[in-house]
Amino acid sequence: MKNSAILLNKRPVGRPTMEDFKFVEQEVPAIKDGEFLLKTLYVSVDPYLRGRMIDAKSYVPPFQLNEPMSSGVIAEVIESKNPKFKIGTFVSGYLDWKEYNVSTGAGLTPVDPNAASITAYLGILGMTGLTAYLGLKNIGSPKQGETLVVSGAAGAVGSVVGQIGKIMGCKVIGIAGTDEKVALLKDKFGFDEGINYKTTDNMTKAIQAAAPNGVDIYFDNVGGDISDAVMFNLNRLARVVVCGSISGYNDTERSVGPRMQWKLISTSSLMKGFTIGDYANEFPHGMETLTTWLAEGKLAYTETIVKGFDQIPQAFLDLFDGKNEGKMIVKI
Ligand code: NAP
Repeated sequence: MKNSAILLNKRPVGRPTMEDFKFVEQEVPAIKDGEFLLKTLYVSVDPYLRGRMIDAKSYVPPFQLNEPMSSGVIAEVIESKNPKFKIGTFVSGYLDWKEYNVSTGAGLTPVDPNAASITAYLGILGMTGLTAYLGLKNIGSPKQGETLVVSGAAGAVGSVVGQIGKIMGCKVIGIAGTDEKVALLKDKFGFDEGINYKTTDNMTKAIQAAAPNGVDIYFDNVGGDISDAVMFNLNRLARVVVCGSISGYNDTERSVGPRMQWKLISTSSLMKGFTIGDYANEFPHGMETLTTWLAEGKLAYTETIVKGFDQIPQAFLDLFDGKNEGKMIVKI
């Protein structure tokens, strides 16, 4: 059986292009005792993969040239010599960008297709949902009546952060890149206010107008000028949750913006970065909470589903143009 795979062809400088990826055909290896064969059904593409394309030490190792790219995947067991993973079982986990993967089960979690849509395990019930919940809870510490600003608000993490902010009793303001996304924030996700950063001349004033009582929590998914503008509006004892910095992921030189430490001093605020692995011991509790809120109708989610194995790299590139609403997923 032929197996299409996508390898890292070149290390991108600046914005990645299709030339940074290479499509190859491989043989599907025969499975040995203890192994099983997985057919890839859905692939998650995520901004953090950009960081893994460069050869730099980080919290996850870099992809190697001429080796497969990988990310969160939902797959189905189609052959098995492992009694714990029977044919027909659906799993989620980090797998290579291949149509078929061989596994022993290490790092994979069976998912119940009857409990939720299986794509939800790549988004709201997966890494991005946990990032939203655990980042906001542990660093943002939201309290009733506070004002929460979320950037990247219509994306996978941001759309969940805003909704959890509402569950916690906050006033929630989302920042996103189109009028359609701003409408989605208010109409589907219950945000109080939305700002289109691409059509707003003065973001500092726009945030001030949307948050006349100031900003108590800023959940930062994008960094750069947008974050500077939010930080000018911080209240005393504010919390800044540094989750992502997508506006700078393709920079070839580190941008130097206003240096905001003075604002942290003058407001006695906390600014803290994290990666979701920091809270691994809270994943079971996080999953339970998100699953309950989803079942109770307190959380909604949206997905942008692109079709075709060969579309995986383009779907990834499209994240940098904001082509997704909610979780960007490729259906194989
Ligand atoms: P996402 O928000 O679903 O997709 C990326 C979005 O970023 C795009 O839709 C686009 O929306 C926005 N964007 C792209 N370029 C931008 C720019 N130059 N300035 C402002 N916005 C830009 O992605 P996600 O998976 O939910 O991730 C969101 C952020 O969280 C990313 O920075 C990611 O790296 C980070 N993250 C961190 C962790 C962690 O453990 N710390 C875990 C997951 C994700 P617009 O149309 O609004 O521009």
